[in-house]
Amino acid sequence: YQAKRDRTGVEVYESKRDSNTPDRLGLLGDLRRALDAHEVQLHYQPKVRFDGQVAGLEALVRWVHPERGKVPPDEFIAIAESSGLMPQLTEYVLETALGQVARWRAQGLFVPVAVNVSPRDVHTPGFAGSVAARLARHGVPAGALQLEITEHVLLEDPQRAADTLAGLTGHGVKMSLDDFGTGYSSLVHLRRLPVSELKIDRSFVARLAVDTEDAEIVRCTVDLAHSLGLLVVAEGVEDDETWERLRDLGCDAVQGWLVAAAMPPEETTAWLRARGSRGWQRPAAALPAAA
Ligand code: C2E
Ligand code: MG
Ligand code: MG
Ligand code: MG
Repeated sequence: YQAKRDRTGVEVYESKRDSNTPDRLGLLGDLRRALDAHEVQLHYQPKVRFDGQVAGLEALVRWVHPERGKVPPDEFIAIAESSGLMPQLTEYVLETALGQVARWRAQGLFVPVAVNVSPRDVHTPGFAGSVAARLARHGVPAGALQLEITEHVLLEDPQRAADTLAGLTGHGVKMSLDDFGTGYSSLVHLRRLPVSELKIDRSFVARLAVDTEDAEIVRCTVDLAHSLGLLVVAEGVEDDETWERLRDLGCDAVQGWLVAAAMPPEETTAWLRARGSRGWQRPAAALPAAA
C-alpha cells in the first residue's frame, strides 16, 4: 500500500489504496484507455508574485471518467504509481504541457509551466535525456519548464535520484520542491536536492492567519529557504489575510484559490491576456479602505 506520513511523521494507513481490488484494477484499465484516447486533460493554476506578476503556471491533471465523473488526481496518481503506469502518465503530461507552452509562446505569452513528477519518474533510466529531447522537439527553451518533485524522490536510491536531477538542471530545467514540510528530515533533503524553489505545503498555509505555530513554521521555512538562495511559494492561499501574512513574512509568490483555481487551457489563455503586463490585482473590495 501507499505509505503516507502525517505531519508528525506517523504512518497513516490508507485502506482505500490498500490492494488490487477489482475497483482499482478497473480504474487502472480505464486510465490506460483514457490516456490513449486523450481524455485526460491538464488544467493550469497561476503562481503570482506579490507585485501581481505571473511567475508561472502549474499543470494539474484532470480526469473525468465517463461513468464515475471526476476522479481526484491523488487517487489515480497513486494507482498509476503502484501499477507501473506512471511513466506513461508523465510522458502524456509533459507532452501536453510542452505543446501548450509552445502554442502560448507562438501567441506572445511567455509563461513558464511547472509539471509535477513522481519519484518513479526520477528513477526511470534516461528520464533527464528524454525531457531534454522533448523540449527540443517542441522548440521550448529549458528555462520555460519547471519540474515539481517531492522529498520522496530520495527515499530509494538517493544517489541515482541526485544524478538524474543534476542531469535535468544541467539541461537548464528548474526544479521545485513541492509539499515542503510534509516529509521528514527536510533539512537534509534541502541540502541534497538541486532545487531553486520551495513550495510550502498547504497544510501549513491554511491556518497561518489563526495558528501561531503554523505562522512560526512558515516564517522559519521562508528564512531558511532564502538563506539557501531559494524562492519560496506558498500553496493553497484562499484569503486576503493569509496573502498579507505571507507577504509580511517575505514569501516570494503564492498560489491558491484567492488568485485562481486551476483552469482549462482556453480559460488560462484568457486569464493571462486579461492580466496583460499589469499582472494579477487583488479585487478592490478586498483592499483596506483608504484612510
Ligand atoms: P500539488 O502539486 O501539491 O498541487 C496542489 C493541489 O492543491 C492541487 O490539487 C490544487 O488544485 C490544489 N489547490 C490549489 N489551490 C488551492 C487552494 O487555495 N485551496 C485548496 N484547498 N486546494 C488548492 P489537485 O489538482 O487535486 O492535485 C493533487 C496532487 O496530485 C498534486 O498536489 C500533485 O501532487 C498531484 N498531481 C496533480 N497533477 C499531477 C501530474 O500531472 N503528475 C503527477 N505526478 N502528480 C500530479
Ligand atoms: Mg505541485
Ligand atoms: Mg504541493
Ligand atoms: Mg500538496
